[in-house]
Amino acid sequence: MIDSHCHLDFDEFKDRRDEAISEALSVGVHIIVNIGTDLETSRNSVQLADVHDCIYATVGVHPHDARKYNKETEAELVQLSDHRKVVAIGEIGLDYYRDLSPRNIQQRVFHKQLELAVEKKLPVVIHTREAFRETVEIVREYSHRLTGGLFHCFPGTVSDAYDVIDLGFEISFGGVITFPKAKMARVASEVPLKHILLETDSPYLAPVPFRGKSNQPAYVRFVRDKLAELRGITAEEVETITDRNSRKFFRLVDMFEG
Ligand SMILES: [Zn+2]
Repeated sequence: MIDSHCHLDFDEFKDRRDEAISEALSVGVHIIVNIGTDLETSRNSVQLADVHDCIYATVGVHPHDARKYNKETEAELVQLSDHRKVVAIGEIGLDYYRDLSPRNIQQRVFHKQLELAVEKKLPVVIHTREAFRETVEIVREYSHRLTGGLFHCFPGTVSDAYDVIDLGFEISFGGVITFPKAKMARVASEVPLKHILLETDSPYLAPVPFRGKSNQPAYVRFVRDKLAELRGITAEEVETITDRNSRKFFRLVDMFEG
């Protein structure tokens, strides 16, 4: 199993990071992608990837932190992105729900990092909240030059999902699909499986039966199981296909058979 999105460097894991990693490995999670959200967490992600075979990293500045982005930030991101275990630029995008950075700055910083991804031939991990259309319009401009894009914790409808897939992007689902009456569950049950990746977004959004508690990569199995239930196939089938999708997206293909 692959957890395509988590934040093991966050403070919530301070006293139990190694336990969380061993627990993940013990339930069959063999790859964890740790996601950067600003310069510090990007550095920390790379550091975790250096220490743990199973961890890969992304580097980037989240829309919340867009106002902190400057030339020095960019220079360091460029440098970090050359690390052999950095597999994407992210998480980047727009968040008009919390508006922690002014919208025009969020957009500018999003553009800058999309350019960086094109230049570095890395895919992008996208965060979008209350800004789906605007996000799609921006990534559309880059879709032919990017090596890939992933809308994480997919927030849209079935038809939104097809818009994104038509542009050559993938989508990922986490614990939210296990919540009763989740709108996302319908999207997860209809969209072609070959475009779906699994994630936890740990320490956030723990799936049922741990909803409301702290999330960890080992819980990606509950997302897998829910997706299997929604689609009427086995957990093994979901695992095989979504693992393949993640390996392809992050270009981990060569490192594993299949
Ligand atoms: Zn995240």
